[in-house]
Amino acid sequence: MKLSFWTYEGPAHFGAIRIAASMRGVHLLLHSPQGDTYADLLFTMIEREGRRPPVTYTTFQARDLGSSTAELVLATARDACERFKPDVLLVTDSCTAELIQDQPGTLVGGANMSTPVISVEMAAYSRKENWGASETFFQLVRGLLASKVPAPGEEPAPRPEGQRPSVNLLGPTLLGFRCRDDVKEITALLDSVGVDVNVVAPLGASAHDLQRLPLADANVCLSPEVADSACEWLTRNFRQPLIRTVPIGVKATDDFLQELATVLNLPIDIEQASPSRLPWYSRSVDSTYLTDKRVFIFADASHAVAAARIASSELGFEVVGLGTYSREQARSVREAARELGLEPLITDDYLEVERHVAELRPEMILGTQMERHIAKRLGIGCAVISTPAHVQDYPARYSPQMGYEGANVIFDTWVHPLMMGLEEHLLRMFREDFEFNDSAAPSHLEEGEATLRDMPTTDVGVGKLTWDISAEKELKKIPFFVRGKARRNTEEYAQGAGLQVIDVETLYEAKAHFSR
Ligand code: SF4
Repeated sequence: MKLSFWTYEGPAHFGAIRIAASMRGVHLLLHSPQGDTYADLLFTMIEREGRRPPVTYTTFQARDLGSSTAELVLATARDACERFKPDVLLVTDSCTAELIQDQPGTLVGGANMSTPVISVEMAAYSRKENWGASETFFQLVRGLLASKVPAPGEEPAPRPEGQRPSVNLLGPTLLGFRCRDDVKEITALLDSVGVDVNVVAPLGASAHDLQRLPLADANVCLSPEVADSACEWLTRNFRQPLIRTVPIGVKATDDFLQELATVLNLPIDIEQASPSRLPWYSRSVDSTYLTDKRVFIFADASHAVAAARIASSELGFEVVGLGTYSREQARSVREAARELGLEPLITDDYLEVERHVAELRPEMILGTQMERHIAKRLGIGCAVISTPAHVQDYPARYSPQMGYEGANVIFDTWVHPLMMGLEEHLLRMFREDFEFNDSAAPSHLEEGEATLRDMPTTDVGVGKLTWDISAEKELKKIPFFVRGKARRNTEEYAQGAGLQVIDVETLYEAKAHFSR
């Protein structure tokens, strides 16, 4: 048992619903108790889809447990096929159904349905939403293509003369982060360098489209959380090369094009293809004050890794913490953290994340909706860079994260929560101003948004420490966005020196100690 108030991911069968809802002609039969239909709201209210997700729930109740729930599964499957006439019926169970072990996939698969049935086993008590999406997509791709796998030694047919090379874009789904616009951006980028998109999947694809996957020259894995397993299976069985660079950020997009050029043997002039305004904006003098801003990053693995690279090498921030809740993809985050000399934070416990943020006292957080709540409580500026996200991160306007336009969007989004340079400078000089003072929010934000508060003393082992009045006064002279760090360092120093009272002298000794 684990006491949990917030979770970063839903149960594994949510992943299956995301795949079915993203596609056309695919229907999901979900063996689940009455009440599980709440998942529909994620699609109709957060994604604001104009249709219900294509899911039929068995919705068994307590009284059904006394009779045959297996019969209920079969009857519901037949009804769903008759009513919705899907091209493929996916079958899986929810957490509660897993306990009663009806094995709905095997049952429906053996019932001579006229609709092809693909069964997905969920490991509801050990896995979560992204794994569920990945497993469902993988089983769907394998189920539809297993009979087309070429015999050993059989060479793939060469691309017809004069036909442009093409790739599949794999991984985008509904309820992913900005997938709709990322697909548009990457499709346009590929087109600009002479590459076509064969199939985008799961988002918008049909079962027939999945059967065309082997026709592409390579697969682009845009979301490793969802498409890693399917991509690897395609590489193993159809010998399709895999492009792994996730093109988020200017440098990653350059690398993506470089990888594309190598894999497809194409001459791509990357300098020519690079129209993002981010490099010039971040080099312009107005961005000088961004240098070394202390930032904490926590997200799904692919967005965390991309954000760490952009923050450290494109915007000049100092990344002080990096982590993910995606255990399956944690390796890439570990590597990125190692390169930055950090200890990675791999956890799905938001309280642990909050403890880390409180300890590190960054000037900005790049995270999920959860970190937005944490940031609000601690009064730190925050930008959302990954799921889980609320409705405002499924915007009406064009807002990709990928490609060169994605980099423009990222620059604006990340800089927005920070205090602007002139204001930050004035605050250092005139602390007592009635309007622009230490406790005021950045003036370009609404009141209450991202107000960096003077953080409280850490409670870890500092119970006996007291700040004398003159030291508190001196501390207040330190600009508010680094004051938290100064407070923590001084307390750490005082503890190490066995002091119980912090006076002005201790403050300066600590400063000298840490700047050595
Ligand atoms: S089956 Fe799982 S997701 Fe559905 S209500 Fe029960 S615990 Fe929640």
